[in-house]
Amino acid sequence: MKDCVFCKIIKGQLPAKKIFEDENFLAFNDISPKANTHILVIPKKHISKISDCQDSDQNLIGGLILTAKKIAAKKNIKGYKLLFNVDKEGGQVVFHIHLHLLAGKKINLEQC
Ligand code: AMP
Repeated sequence: MKDCVFCKIIKGQLPAKKIFEDENFLAFNDISPKANTHILVIPKKHISKISDCQDSDQNLIGGLILTAKKIAAKKNIKGYKLLFNVDKEGGQVVFHIHLHLLAGKKINLEQC
């Protein structure tokens, strides 16, 4: 989508510290980390929010979680939190689905 920050990262039009990429997913460091490890995992398909997902997006949502799991395993992260903010009222600021992968002793959930 034209004005979407995360679509621009996918297209290489905005910089990001990429952690993982395959055909369907991209993961990169959050620009304003709220924990020692704060990675965002996104689908390359633009969907604005979890509440817009359809039954046909089941594999995409499952894939996001499995991608986060693989990244955590590869980085030897033993315990972590996975978080979706859903809609403005749920704290969502960027309207392209993203899964927050948070780890470390100081996780600032208030600011996530
Ligand atoms: P949310 O509140 O769930 O929409 O979270 C959006 C997250 O995206 C925040 O934690 C931001 O710090 C992060 N963010 C916004 N712009 C960028 C960017 N250009 N690169 C990396 N992370 C970003």
